[in-house]
Amino acid sequence: MIKIAVVGSSSMDLVVTSAKRPIAGETVLGDSFITVPGGKGANQAVAAARLGAEVTMIGCVGDDFYGEIILENLKKNHVNTKCVEPVTGAMSGTAHITLSEGDNSIIVVKGANDFITPEYVQKAKKIIEESDIVMVQQEIPEETVLYLAELCEKLQKRLLLNPAPARKISEAVIQQSSFITPNEHEFEILFGGRDRTEVLTEYPNKLFITEGKNGVRYFDGHEEKVVPSFVVEAVDTTGAGDTFNAALAVAVAEGKSFDDCLLFANRAASISVTKLGAQGGMPTREEVERSFE
Ligand code: ATP
Repeated sequence: MIKIAVVGSSSMDLVVTSAKRPIAGETVLGDSFITVPGGKGANQAVAAARLGAEVTMIGCVGDDFYGEIILENLKKNHVNTKCVEPVTGAMSGTAHITLSEGDNSIIVVKGANDFITPEYVQKAKKIIEESDIVMVQQEIPEETVLYLAELCEKLQKRLLLNPAPARKISEAVIQQSSFITPNEHEFEILFGGRDRTEVLTEYPNKLFITEGKNGVRYFDGHEEKVVPSFVVEAVDTTGAGDTFNAALAVAVAEGKSFDDCLLFANRAASISVTKLGAQGGMPTREEVERSFE
């Protein structure tokens, strides 16, 4: 079984649906309310575990009720939580999501995710050393991403950086990462209006731009390629990127060829959009394999 370490955020998503979005100073009556575990780190950890990897999450929760539910959910999905500590006096990360008028608006409160410091990650060095690949996203402090990239280079560990949410990253981090997976919007922020083909050519087999239902674009050292996605009836695309990243990490760690890795990642992500919710749609290994038959 391949081993994956995920350094990242976890949160509780508080989702309200409402016919009308309130303007400043207004109160409206909503239609429904649910709470679901989320956060890019936790989502990617759950997705990788469902795809058959032995996953250890490195993160923080609050010492509150949501923290207990987040931990319970990770355990239920067979993610090892020995490196997810409740932080005394901190609240768990939360995302306050309003679904209204055909769109969403979200306020993220980072809470305990801010306690995922370089020193905290250093305590889990052994887990990183023992893993086949390390995954990270950008819902944790920037200095932690910098530290992790350096650490992975030192330990000769492959690092898959999913640069979401978008912020500029240094050339050093790009060099230290083995794979970088922005969506189209994140690519624009990372490389500030530069020509896409030119940038892709600079990072062969490293930079993978996900393009929603169109699939994924990269440069294989000879030519620019788009590996098309699978045609499905999309119900909810939340978490598609998280599933894609987890499946890519699993496939790379298993030693599949690049083409097979991207086929596998596209397939897993396309299945995830056919069901509601970020984690709700993440497929098991069996579901992905059955879909190839
Ligand atoms: P999200 O933030 O919604 O989780 P993202 O913006 O990070 O996703 P996308 O580029 O939208 O990432 O999608 C990631 C991958 O998911 C795509 O490369 C593709 O494999 C799959 N995917 C997304 N949308 C669809 C769709 N409508 N049909 C099939 N596959 C899809």
